[in-house]
Amino acid sequence: MQAESHLQHREIAEAASIIASSRYVVAMTGAGMSVESGIPTFRGRDGLWTRYGQPKMDGFKRFNDDPAGWWERNLNRDIDAHIIELRDALVAAKPHAGHHALVQLEQAGALNHVITQNIDGLDSRAGLRNLIEIHGNRSRLRCLGCGERQSLGDFVPTEPPDPCQRCGGVIKFDTVMFGEPIPKDTMAAARAEIDQADCILAIGTSASVRPASGLLWIARSQGATLIEINPHETSLTSICDVVVRAEAGDALNRLASFW
Ligand code: NAD
Ligand code: ZN
Repeated sequence: MQAESHLQHREIAEAASIIASSRYVVAMTGAGMSVESGIPTFRGRDGLWTRYGQPKMDGFKRFNDDPAGWWERNLNRDIDAHIIELRDALVAAKPHAGHHALVQLEQAGALNHVITQNIDGLDSRAGLRNLIEIHGNRSRLRCLGCGERQSLGDFVPTEPPDPCQRCGGVIKFDTVMFGEPIPKDTMAAARAEIDQADCILAIGTSASVRPASGLLWIARSQGATLIEINPHETSLTSICDVVVRAEAGDALNRLASFW
């Protein structure tokens, strides 16, 4: 990968030039963005699903059918091995050079907003301000009734949460489960960013998780320039204007050095 990434100077310079001449730049990041922080992806060679097998995609239905039972199993770590591995990695992770480079780009006025599919909170820990966590955040709870979020900080729940004090609704982790709709307020905010963007940076996403990934095709259809940063080909590659075949940390660090 190292030798190959050296060949990407031209692509990174081209990406920098497009970003500099764009009016409104939005980055969409996926699980690949946090690989260099030690958090595995689901798909791909070292992905959790590749090693443990793909789980059933009905997580939200199972939660909804029996929230109390779900919480009991979860708190007792009676959960899939790949979720335990992911959770332990999330607890240990720290932002890497690529997260800091995004902050540098934001502070330089080169990057207007980030939509992340990640639930790890590393972007805000690095200091990023304009952020939409489209799949939620693992350190928050959310009421399914009224949508109110509650930050847990470092607190790890040891008992199932009480019903919502405001509306009596069921409380779950803010993380969007498979089969769960993205909360309307979050989706609307993400769509509003996409509608303003004339340049999109797709970083470390396989662009295969809908509806989040659909926003990339919407941006394209609205005339935005697409720049992909990913060591591997994705389903988005063929519609991108510039493709940087490198890891997020290396590529973003070099990109930010233009400002
Ligand atoms: P994905 O697992 O489908 O794909 C990851 C992509 O990252 C791949 O295209 C891969 O080539 C690329 N990649 C691997 N290493 C990279 C690197 N060092 N730099 C840049 N790119 C790299 O990820 P996805 O499209 O984001 O979809 C999976 C869903 O699972 C996401 O929606 C996310 O919510 C969730 N998820 C989140 C985390 C996290 O919060 N860190 C971790 C795993 C999964
Ligand atoms: Zn509520």
